Amino acid sequence: MSYTLPELPYAYDALEPHFDTTTMTIHHQRHHQAYVDNLNKAIAGTDAESKELEDILKEVSKYAPAVRNNGGGHYNHSFFWKILSATPKTAPTGKLAEEINTHFGSLDELKAQVKQAGLGQFGSGWAWLLVKSDGSLAVAATPNQDNPLMDTSANQGCPILGVDVWEHAYYLKYQNKRADYLDAFWSVLDWAVVEKNYEQALSKGK
Ligand code: MN
Repeated sequence: MSYTLPELPYAYDALEPHFDTTTMTIHHQRHHQAYVDNLNKAIAGTDAESKELEDILKEVSKYAPAVRNNGGGHYNHSFFWKILSATPKTAPTGKLAEEINTHFGSLDELKAQVKQAGLGQFGSGWAWLLVKSDGSLAVAATPNQDNPLMDTSANQGCPILGVDVWEHAYYLKYQNKRADYLDAFWSVLDWAVVEKNYEQALSKGK
């Protein structure tokens, strides 16, 4: 199969003033498109063409670095666009809210740990909230376009929240102030989608 760039589920200017229009446009049309194009090139003529992307990532150690980098890039960005919204649910409720309180003590503490993971990732990467195989929550950072699905990841599990900390995600608006970008992220994060991701992760038992 051949991958295509998914449409954003909102307009490029929908997340203003937190995520600016120019960044969103370039991030989607150029950066994400490049991961899609390079993923298609990397799998052309290989058995990966007949596999689901998630299944490739779960055994990514068997594939070429270009599959890892661009498969991760396509998965991570597709995931990221879906958890953002112009009209987000601003806090979790129900089972996820309970689990966050049990595991982290409070939502603010979870946010602090995600921010720290994002700030602590030297160079490019992502910060995640993930569900581990035992069903518990964890915060982790991954380098480059890696993610917790990958068998190469030091923190494996099913991601339910992720934030891109590559400079291309924030440099035009926030310049070197990654911390300010990570603070702004919470204003456009839709917890309704994170809750849905959490339920799906638990039902997969991964
Ligand atoms: Mn990006």
